[in-house]
Order: sequence, then structure tokens, then C-alpha cells
Amino acid sequence: MQRNIWCGLKLSAIIFILLLDLTCTRQIALLIIDVQNCFLPGGSLAVTEGDQVIPVINNIRSEYKADISLVVLSQDWHCSDHISFASQHKGAGQVIQLSYDKSGSLCDENNSCTEVAYNLTQHLWPDHCVINTPSANFSHNLTHEPSDLVVRKGYNCKVDSYSAFYDNGGFRHTELHDKLKEAGIDALIITGLARDYCVYYTAMASKTLGYETYVVLDATRPVTKETGDSAVADMKSKGNIKC
Ligand SMILES: [Zn+2]
Repeated sequence: MQRNIWCGLKLSAIIFILLLDLTCTRQIALLIIDVQNCFLPGGSLAVTEGDQVIPVINNIRSEYKADISLVVLSQDWHCSDHISFASQHKGAGQVIQLSYDKSGSLCDENNSCTEVAYNLTQHLWPDHCVINTPSANFSHNLTHEPSDLVVRKGYNCKVDSYSAFYDNGGFRHTELHDKLKEAGIDALIITGLARDYCVYYTAMASKTLGYETYVVLDATRPVTKETGDSAVADMKSKGNIKC
């Protein structure tokens, strides 16, 4: 469906829109990033006010139902001993360095890596969103319909994945890009958690992959104000605010 909705948009929820080359006649997908129990108040990696994005997202999808061709929910989906869990790195600081060989395999006691091809900085987090646990479930307050596409990420135990498109090393892609192309999508409205990590990295990947990219700030919350502000500044520097 092609409409000009985003050109005349006055939705009060939208505080900031990141976009590139808006033509206003686009096939639009609403992307809802990681609105899961682990990231909500009471969760193991709770984002402050994370629950407040839910009515905003539900409102966007209901108010603009006719204009949104596809709704995608991403789902952080980790092994119980995931590389990003601080519990797996006793005594380490909040940030560690990880090395990978050219195939994207982690260099560790099981893989000595004659040649390191990639070094990644890994922030360590509390255990969260473990596969098939209530922590990984979507909030029951989030509107979720059978036609929604669910894209899981972070299920490689040795590589984290902030972006819903590909992991932090760019080693493996999820199915998201292919599914969006199949549906003829060329513009993404990005919402969810957290603004400074998975939303930010998904928006950057979206732009890299050529989608017109919009981030609805009021439908996101950051882990910290500082990193949230930095992410917004970076996103703004890479796009123009139009409409
Ligand atoms: Zn995670």
C-alpha cells in the first residue's frame, strides 16, 4: 500500500524522525525491536520506562493500520551461556574484547585462530532473553497479530546481535532483509528497545541496506541517557528530518 501518511504526519508521539530521501510513496513496515519481558520493568535487563513505549507502538499500528504493509517483531533470543552475559566472564569489566577468525568463529580455548580476522568490543550484560523462557516472551500488553513477522536474533551463542538484520560482526544475516524485499518494503518505521543499542544498530543497518529509515523516539527508551543522546546525535547526523 502506498500512501503519503508520513508526509502529513502529526502524531504527537513522534518526536524525532530519521529519514533518508523521503518520497512519501513507499511500502512501509513497522519494526518493533525487542519489546520483551527481559527489557521491561521487572526484567533482568530492564530499560527505565521501557513499558511506556508499548501504548505508543500499539497506537501507531492501530492508527496507521491501513498504511503499514508489514509489522515485524524482533526477538532477542540467547543461549543460556551467551557470550554477552557477564556471568560467563567472571572478573571481567563491563566491556571485553572478542576475536574471531575469518569465518566468524570465536577465538577461544576451542579455536586458537592462527589468524584473527575481526576484533569486536562486547559490552557485558546480565543474563537476559534466554531461549524458551518467560524472560524472552513479548510483553502481553504489546499488540501481536498472527500475520506479524517474528525475527529472532542473538541465537548464535558466540556472537551478539544488536541489529535485527545481522550480528555484531556482520557474519550472519537474519531473514529480515529477504523478508522485507519479498514484501516489497522500502521504508521502515523503527520502534522499541533499547534506543541506544538494538534500535540504533537496526536503524544504522537499515540505512546501510538502503531503506528509508525512521526512528520514532517516543516509541523507544535508552539504557542510559548518555548513550541514548549519543545514538540520537549519530542518527541525526546521518539523515535529514523532513515532512
Ligand atoms: Zn541480548
